[in-house]
Amino acid sequence: MPSVKFRICNDSTVFCFGFSPTDKQNSQHMKLFGLTGGIASGKSTVSRQLTAEGVHVIDCDVIVRQLQEPDSACVRQIRKHWPHVVDGAGVLDRDALSAIAFADPAARRTISGIMNRPIVVAIMSALLAAWWQRRAVVVLDMPLLFETKVFTYLISASILIACEPDTQVARLNTRNELDAEEAKLRIAAQMPLAAKVKMADYVVQNGSGVSQATLAKDVSRCLVWMRS
Ligand code: ADP
Repeated sequence: MPSVKFRICNDSTVFCFGFSPTDKQNSQHMKLFGLTGGIASGKSTVSRQLTAEGVHVIDCDVIVRQLQEPDSACVRQIRKHWPHVVDGAGVLDRDALSAIAFADPAARRTISGIMNRPIVVAIMSALLAAWWQRRAVVVLDMPLLFETKVFTYLISASILIACEPDTQVARLNTRNELDAEEAKLRIAAQMPLAAKVKMADYVVQNGSGVSQATLAKDVSRCLVWMRS
């Protein structure tokens, strides 16, 4: 009677699940890539293109939103610390919580303590579902991939969307209507771009001067590399 096991390989194929580690017939390979980058670097833009080109993308922002649905267990815990960010119907004011998190490292640690474990469980479930659906190439879109580290041990390679801080500030101003000071605070709360570039396996440049069309071409090139 075979037992279901999975193993994680650090070679070209990662996530090799099978009925036994040596059972080649029943095992199935799934390449898993981590997609990351600073806030407003262009991750969602790249994710949308990858999805359109048939890649299965697991979006951590969507997972967090699902975990923070009205009156969820996570929201109830958040309310214990910051009652004013949750209304009477249990709806979380995500912008207000972000402002608290980015302004105060201690608050950030408390929020991580509430959110991290459910996020990891939800991502692992999504990865298992992707494997079960026999997805060959899967992308984990995770803004804090390098900061939280845990998923760097599971991915076969990381892809960084690189963008210099001045462009991030400009995009945050347009997209989120944040002033420069608030935008810089949020950028400073993340690992610096230079450190991320050193850790990444593949870097897609998306700073000032990179048009949407150029970005799309570079992402297509990256996809060829991912599927190779
Ligand atoms: P992230 O998901 O990393 O926070 P987004 O993909 O949402 O970033 O991009 C942030 C903003 O910048 C969006 O409004 C997006 O349309 C814009 N943007 C991204 N890349 C480019 C680009 N190459 N040229 C112009 N605008 C861009």
